[in-house]
Amino acid sequence: MHFDLAGRKALVTAAAQGIGAAVTQGFAQAGATVIAVDANGERLQQACGDFKRATPECGDLTQAEFVQRLAESHPDVDILVNVVGYVHHGTILDCDESAWQRSIDLNMTTMYRLMRALLPGMLDRGGGRIINVASVVSTLKAVPNRFAYAATKGAVIAMTKSVAADFVRQGIRCNAICPGTIDTPSLHERLAASGDYTGNLQAFLQRQPLGRFGRADEVAAMALYLASDASDFVTGAVMVCDGGMTL
Ligand code: NAD
Repeated sequence: MHFDLAGRKALVTAAAQGIGAAVTQGFAQAGATVIAVDANGERLQQACGDFKRATPECGDLTQAEFVQRLAESHPDVDILVNVVGYVHHGTILDCDESAWQRSIDLNMTTMYRLMRALLPGMLDRGGGRIINVASVVSTLKAVPNRFAYAATKGAVIAMTKSVAADFVRQGIRCNAICPGTIDTPSLHERLAASGDYTGNLQAFLQRQPLGRFGRADEVAAMALYLASDASDFVTGAVMVCDGGMTL
């Protein structure tokens, strides 16, 4: 099935690499105009460079003023894809107040602010699509050393369902994607930071029933479906893309 986003305007966060870059690429190829947002300007330019329809917007999404400016510059966004997120490594005992606050700021508040800023424009134009990237490590599954991550990604699922329920009769569809372990630059950074790259790579692979990590474009394909008319009957869904990790 071909997903057509011609004439649609999308805003994608964390667009410089990994899942966000793959979503930007997939949406641009499907005909959408994409506002690609990331804090890393250099990498963002490179990621957008190849796609004519992607416009880079560099800034820190934890800053309310930046989100406000984005919404003012792009009041006509049809599709919002909230990808930005961060993994805090550790148990509750490793998670001090500042790590806790950072997880809330990056994983939850960025999504809250962008949805709140862009929803009025979507409602004025009679509809819109919101896709929030959560994780299987959330309310779906617990793994060791992901306390703040699981708590905040569970909240992303709850926010998604609330927005879906509140605006279901006003043309807004809001869905969550829960990836398993996806082969992105941040995965390799986390493995390197663990001090035992090879050992942990094997351990991560062993928890993959399908025997491999996912690819960013496989998550982007799910986002493409949720952004397109093909999913018009789908809202409040928690879509899992995990190679069987939650089986
Ligand atoms: P990543 O971590 O590789 O990239 C994140 C991007 O976000 C970077 O380009 C970075 O510059 C940008 N960024 C970070 N802080 C920012 C800020 N304050 N403002 C603007 N941009 C900022 O991305 P990824 O691994 O593809 O993960 C993307 C999303 O998918 C995250 O929400 C993550 O939790 C989720 N996820 C990833 C995996 C995985 O295995 N990679 C699994 C499940 C869920």
